Amino acid sequence: MTRSLLHQLAAALGDGAVLTEPDDLASYVTDWTGAISGTTMAVVRPADTAGVAAAVRLCAESGVAVVPQGGNTGLAGGATPDAAYENVVLSLSRMRRVRDVDAVADTITVDAGVVLADLQDAAHAANRLFPLSLGSEGSCTVGGIVSTNAGGTSVLRYGMMRDLVLGLEVVLPDGRVWDGLRPLRKDNTGYDLKQLFIGAEGTLGVVTAAVLRLLPDVPRRATALLALPDVGCAVAMLPLLRTHTGGLLTAWELINREALGLVLTHLPGARDPFGTPHAWYGLVELAGGSEDVEGLLESALEAAVERELVVDAVVAGSRTQRAALWALREGISEAQRIGGASIKHDVTLPIAELAEFVAEIGDLLDEVLPGVRRVTYGHVGDGNLHYNLSAPPSGDAALRASAPDLTRRVYDAVAGRGGSISAEHGLGSLKREAAASYKSDVEIDLMRSVKQALDPRGLMNPGKVVP
Ligand SMILES: Cc1cc2nc3c(=O)[nH]c(=O)nc-3n(C[C@H](O)[C@H](O)[C@H](O)COP(=O)(O)OP(=O)(O)OC[C@H]3O[C@@H](n4cnc5c(N)ncnc54)[C@H](O)[C@@H]3O)c2cc1C
Repeated sequence: MTRSLLHQLAAALGDGAVLTEPDDLASYVTDWTGAISGTTMAVVRPADTAGVAAAVRLCAESGVAVVPQGGNTGLAGGATPDAAYENVVLSLSRMRRVRDVDAVADTITVDAGVVLADLQDAAHAANRLFPLSLGSEGSCTVGGIVSTNAGGTSVLRYGMMRDLVLGLEVVLPDGRVWDGLRPLRKDNTGYDLKQLFIGAEGTLGVVTAAVLRLLPDVPRRATALLALPDVGCAVAMLPLLRTHTGGLLTAWELINREALGLVLTHLPGARDPFGTPHAWYGLVELAGGSEDVEGLLESALEAAVERELVVDAVVAGSRTQRAALWALREGISEAQRIGGASIKHDVTLPIAELAEFVAEIGDLLDEVLPGVRRVTYGHVGDGNLHYNLSAPPSGDAALRASAPDLTRRVYDAVAGRGGSISAEHGLGSLKREAAASYKSDVEIDLMRSVKQALDPRGLMNPGKVVP
């Protein structure tokens, strides 16, 4: 049956579109962290929507599961095939066409395989802005950021991916194509079906194209790295920054010394902009068109120093300096990957709870694994912390052995404060079971009902998301 399916896929898509050699499959069956891997019978790479539809239909007829994959940068194991299921990885990587830019409607229509950085460039070329920005933007794709409802560093001003999607084209688990590629800003004709596929992590269908919102470009940027006494000051800075910057606040990122230290140790060219280490740092950015963003930032910083919320500041004086400050923030994931074993927690809390959560959780984790290193960073304005853990001097093996207990303590503390165990990375295979413990029976029932309605045979990315 396997051989027959592979022949049919090659006949439908062309020989070069079906990969089966182990060397060719390797990069598709292991996730970005290198910690999660699986097996697959083939990777198929259709060139267009008709090809995706044909591949999905053929797999469905053979009862073979489909694992959609974009840039494979997801951090929840959602794009990695599971050895338990006979499956085909469906990569959108050949579908990279910008279909249309509409300067009047302020929309862009793109294939799902378009890389986020290319989408941003296409928007710039039309003097517009596509505002989503992530550390993985050089590799992650439109299909992936739609399917994980990605966030990133400018959510506080522009929202998450869900806020930027107007329409979708989706291949359903039986191979039919749903053409919801409408650029409409108003459409109250029943259920808003596109919302089902946003954040579904490929469990309900394969996104093949999207119509996205564009915004006015904001070429002027003012950026600074601030040294902060504690997380409480970072939280108190948020209303202060909003008040002083007239709606131009685009990023307010938190970084602890452990996280910055990893970047300084492992990433070539990284340099500490301050003479001495500080416990916490905040990266602030304002973006505007004709507004005096530098002046607004300066007045905000003066007010912050006066209130003793900030102990030192480095303001970027050029594009190069701005890029160097952002590299310190964006490089944390990569530095932690190079630095050895880690446990990632992508949690969100009511903003008012952030400081107490950080103060409380350290001791609870030390009870489990003394000296465990807290690599903490995130998006203060969204209440989103990447509360990651790295090995103490006792080593990686000790961290791995304690991982379930450490994670349970983090999640219990988050849930106890009304937070969520996944802010932006999704559930994938990694957090699927944990989610069952923190969601109500009603929520789990609803999730299972939606899955059953769209994918009754359970062939679309099985083992992911739905507990
Ligand atoms: C260095 C780094 C920084 C990151 N920073 C952030 C951040 O700030 N904010 C944030 O939200 N995330 C962040 N991420 C994780 C983020 O989820 C991904 O980078 C991105 O959203 C995934 O896109 P991708 O194309 O790589 O998707 P993949 O990893 O290929 O897939 C992710 C999920 O989407 C599904 N999928 C992919 N394409 C499709 C499709 N066409 N149709 C249906 N399902 C599909 C997959 O099955 C999987 O479940 C970061 C990751 C890295 C490595």
